[in-house]
Amino acid sequence: MGGSEMTHLIRLDQWFGAPVSAGFTNREGGVSEGNYESLNLGFHVSDREEDVQINRERVAAMLDVQKSDVLFGEQVHGNAVAVVTKDTPRRALYDAIAAVDGLVTTDRRIALGVLAADCVPLLFADAYAGVIGVAHAGWRGATSGIVSEVVRQMLGLFAKPERIRVAIGPAIRGCCYEVDAPVVRSARTAYEQMGKPMPVWRRSSNHIGAVMMDLPRICHDELRTLGVKEEHILDVSICTSCMPGFFSHRRDHGTTGRQAGLIRLRGV
Ligand SMILES: [Zn+2]
Repeated sequence: MGGSEMTHLIRLDQWFGAPVSAGFTNREGGVSEGNYESLNLGFHVSDREEDVQINRERVAAMLDVQKSDVLFGEQVHGNAVAVVTKDTPRRALYDAIAAVDGLVTTDRRIALGVLAADCVPLLFADAYAGVIGVAHAGWRGATSGIVSEVVRQMLGLFAKPERIRVAIGPAIRGCCYEVDAPVVRSARTAYEQMGKPMPVWRRSSNHIGAVMMDLPRICHDELRTLGVKEEHILDVSICTSCMPGFFSHRRDHGTTGRQAGLIRLRGV
């Protein structure tokens, strides 16, 4: 396998333990140009489709699967999760599973992927039960229970909270993610509807009513309430906005690529 394919993945195989292979990409190691330089994995961002196809082939190779065997959700900022297999129908456009932000599988023939450029990509595994999952958590998903829903679906496939390991990938963090008062109000409503306490966020020093929302922290705290052990949560602690080497929707004013989180169970 070529060196360039291996070096640009934050590889998490060791941390998850066999038979899991997993990692997070950054923006290096691909063929896209301009704002998408270079490992853009999103089709929906106006990059050249041929380039994205090559980039996707490269990341699929990192996990030793075919490009068509890496399943992504459509990612609509909701909290719906699909349990999938290799045979699950894909949407015609871009080959994604329609209308979900989370995927769960026990199928060792496929890898699961999640795209992000500030939103939180999360990877889940109970290696003992042979169940894996991914989630895409922007503020809407994070405050409406996408993380809980992935765990719930995994428990339905005989995962146990005390065995589940979760990796929280590169995302915009409390240092950079200022959200305005209407977003704070929407988040409060979502928490009230779920009967959960609203997290405390640092106030913005720039705008009245705005806060610095910490998306990875929201996900982390939710995992703890679900019974996932502290030592089973790995936060890569990378801010996509203020640290180099990652796509950031906010910093790049919407014209940017997507990095990915990827996970699979190897065959036994
Ligand atoms: Zn930052």
